[in-house]
Amino acid sequence: MIDTLRADHVGCYGYDKPTTPNLDRLAREGVRFTNFHTASPWTMPSVMTMLTSLHPTVHGATSAQRRASLKVRTLAERLKDSGYARTAAITSNPMVNSRYGFAQGFDLYDDYTIFFAHELNLFAVDDVDHRKSITEAVTSQTVTRMASEWLGKHGRDGPWFLFLLYFDPHDRYVPPSPWDRKFDPHPGAESRKRTDTGPHLLHPRVTPDELEHAIALYDGEIGYTDHCIGQLLAKLETLTLRDNTLVLVTSDHGEEFLDHGGVRHGHTLYGELTRGILILRHPGRLPAGKVVAAPAYHLDVTPTLLDCTGEKTDPECQGASRLAAMLGKTPERRAPEPEPIFLEATTKEAPRALVLGRHKLILDTASRQEELYDLKADPGEKTNLAAKHPDLSAKLRGILDAHVSQCAALAKKYHIEGDAARPQLTRQDIDALRQLGYLQ
Ligand SMILES: [Zn+2]
Repeated sequence: MIDTLRADHVGCYGYDKPTTPNLDRLAREGVRFTNFHTASPWTMPSVMTMLTSLHPTVHGATSAQRRASLKVRTLAERLKDSGYARTAAITSNPMVNSRYGFAQGFDLYDDYTIFFAHELNLFAVDDVDHRKSITEAVTSQTVTRMASEWLGKHGRDGPWFLFLLYFDPHDRYVPPSPWDRKFDPHPGAESRKRTDTGPHLLHPRVTPDELEHAIALYDGEIGYTDHCIGQLLAKLETLTLRDNTLVLVTSDHGEEFLDHGGVRHGHTLYGELTRGILILRHPGRLPAGKVVAAPAYHLDVTPTLLDCTGEKTDPECQGASRLAAMLGKTPERRAPEPEPIFLEATTKEAPRALVLGRHKLILDTASRQEELYDLKADPGEKTNLAAKHPDLSAKLRGILDAHVSQCAALAKKYHIEGDAARPQLTRQDIDALRQLGYLQ
């Protein structure tokens, strides 16, 4: 998983800059979903949804003060139960801390080495720059190195599942050389000479010049992450594991650069934050160069992977397997009634959204204000059609409200309340979350 990667900054998703040659090659060798949505616009709910196939309000990992329900079953647990010899995760975002429930089902869950090594100085992690804060640290090379070592040790131990989280495209945007200048059209300009790429560049009142620079640095972080993923894919080849390894790459959410007047992520359900990528490669099992236009989202990741490994889809999963679509067994022609995609923001305002075919409804569940967009005519979601098409709005609102009620009922089954819902955070965890801005 690549953190904070908006789909339209990826080469094979139509970006005009060569940010992602390795992901582009992976897509040519496998299957790419063009209409992929993230469950939410920020890390924690999205990652838990991809690992459980439950909507955020059902699994419960919806804020820095809440952990996931102990009753959820994770992808790692399901694979473990079906005979997977080893399950491991190497993550580099404190929002997927094991104390929120993410470690469930993993033999090894390393959420620690990369970010806390510099504080505790217990680990010989030479490629982490110990002087930098969490948001400034460049960690993709460490994820690749640790994953490569793990694969070298365990890659032939029988079936295994390895979950990796690459964090670098998350702000601050501080790619190492040469990625710090690679995508900048004016690298010599005055504003580029600033070494601080911090919050002033991410403020909604940034100048056009500063914004252009921030985006160039963001692209640099994507390019650097892609480079590190390329090294990992090369390692699979060196270890002769390429042909019997299913690789899935997705992103947890996007990033806003004033598309709707804001910056960073987490705050809205517009496409710049909720359009992600989904690419799968499994040589000989999945077709090469296949493009799936049918909608899919994080909820489908677990059922799809279970289906690919020969496991029956668990009825507890709220998502659906997309294996048949990848194999071309379902007609690509438009179904009479398109499948709904539900998104939720888990912020105080708690907006929810529904994508149905070419239309998207965003509903503020507190104020009941709604926005309706025609994604085909207006992919940037700029023209609110809610007043113009009240019947269509009402139809989508009805579907969305029914879904919200259904999730609320299901949440009662899963949820834990009171002390059990509170994560037991250490001082280091709290410091890390503060640096990221998730705790005050
Ligand atoms: Zn994230």
